[in-house]
Amino acid sequence: MTSSFSNLSLAPTLARAVAEMGYESMTPIQEQAIPVVLQGRDVMGAAQTGTGKTAAFSLPLLQRMLKHENASTSPARHPVRALVLLPTRELAVQVAQSIKDYAQYTQLRSAVVFGGMDMKPQTLQLKAGVEILVATPGRLLDHIEAKNAVLNQVEYVVLDEADRMLDIGFLPDLQRILSYLPKERITLLFSATFSSEIKRLASSYLQDPVTIEVAQSNAAASTVEQHFYSVGADDKRHALHQVLRQRGLKQAFVFVNSKLGCARLARSLEHEGLKTTALHGDKSQDERLKALDAFKKGEVDLLVCTDVAARGLDIKDVPAVFNFDVPFNAEDYVHRIGRTGRAGASGLAVSFVAPSDARLVSDIEKLLRQKIELEAIEFDEDQPDIRRQGRINDGRRMYSHTQEGPAAERPGRFAAAHSASGERRSESSRPKPAARDPFFDQPYQPSESTAGMAGTETVVKVPSARGISANIKPKRRVAALFKSE
Ligand code: AMP
Repeated sequence: MTSSFSNLSLAPTLARAVAEMGYESMTPIQEQAIPVVLQGRDVMGAAQTGTGKTAAFSLPLLQRMLKHENASTSPARHPVRALVLLPTRELAVQVAQSIKDYAQYTQLRSAVVFGGMDMKPQTLQLKAGVEILVATPGRLLDHIEAKNAVLNQVEYVVLDEADRMLDIGFLPDLQRILSYLPKERITLLFSATFSSEIKRLASSYLQDPVTIEVAQSNAAASTVEQHFYSVGADDKRHALHQVLRQRGLKQAFVFVNSKLGCARLARSLEHEGLKTTALHGDKSQDERLKALDAFKKGEVDLLVCTDVAARGLDIKDVPAVFNFDVPFNAEDYVHRIGRTGRAGASGLAVSFVAPSDARLVSDIEKLLRQKIELEAIEFDEDQPDIRRQGRINDGRRMYSHTQEGPAAERPGRFAAAHSASGERRSESSRPKPAARDPFFDQPYQPSESTAGMAGTETVVKVPSARGISANIKPKRRVAALFKSE
């Protein structure tokens, strides 16, 4: 961080909001982008979330829009002037809130629209007139088709997290939306990485953009300590407990590659005594916001999430990120570990690498231009092997659901199953699960203990006799880990 906001000559209403946010100096993206946007140039910015890019584009846009400020109650006097498009609901909510904060002393109005929610309240807001509209592409198209959103007076468009919008398959939606907009406009594109698709998008829709790169693109945050452990698929949960315990970690994000895997893992970890919540695309908007809130307040230890659900979440200083699954897309590795080690704080990123993940790890090596050394994980002898704890406290078995007795009594069968899957075992004597309990194939339903978690203390379901270390036992209220907004 270098220069002060006072050098920008922002309008007093905006300067006041910035001061109240507690911002003292500009972040690098702000320092570079704000003057360029104030001049009315298109921008292609390489910046990840957490760099302050929302203020980097919203403050100059708000400043430029102040000439339209008015107190009229007529919707016609409040047409949409700025459109901000984002890939996920969470990100849309987050960016819309930041814009509301920055614009709070102006008369400019803003609203956010995203899918998975009733359209009616959004429609009422749109009909009343808003100058700044934050939206996810699909829902915006619904509102355009319903004639709730009229975009013929848009002067500014922001394509935020553009790489992720393309990953999700939003390109056709973006193209349609952009076709409704006036040709004369300022377009700002932000992306964590500049892939060839992003460059193509930029060359189609941006005019003579100024390129701004604040951090080396495709580079993982240097403050993050990264480990790649070679772990058999069945050892991953045990390894997760081990690292949490050894490092005395109180909270972490745990990334998985699929919604189903996310729900299953969250359920298993919950049964193993960790207050866990799942964040994936099948969760309702309300559930996602509650989960995030509970994590931010320190009421939840582990947030198990998929990439889409976690994209761009403004949660800072998470002590650790686990890649329970190595991501299919190497760029997601950079995004995932960007949750930790932010703003100069040191962080930990641990990836569990199964033998079948070799190609994915080599993709990450190529992206980072760094050799990755796989490490072996040493399991503590004196700690219980969670996989031996067949019975969970509601009477169901975690691994073996057969009539034949506990899985641990049939090592031969496990060994055969294991060699068939070709996975390396870190402890040859350790039994393997015989069959998956169908319980874990059911869709995730929040348990009683997590359903109302936002406002209540969660009951830890697993008795201490289960032997999970005190280090990973309930840790309430670690909100201090997160900077307040
Ligand atoms: P963003 O990258 O826009 O998601 O911002 C990440 C976080 O940084 C948000 O919580 C902002 O409130 C905060 N932030 C943005 N700009 C500054 C600044 N200049 N100084 C301190 N915090 C900031």
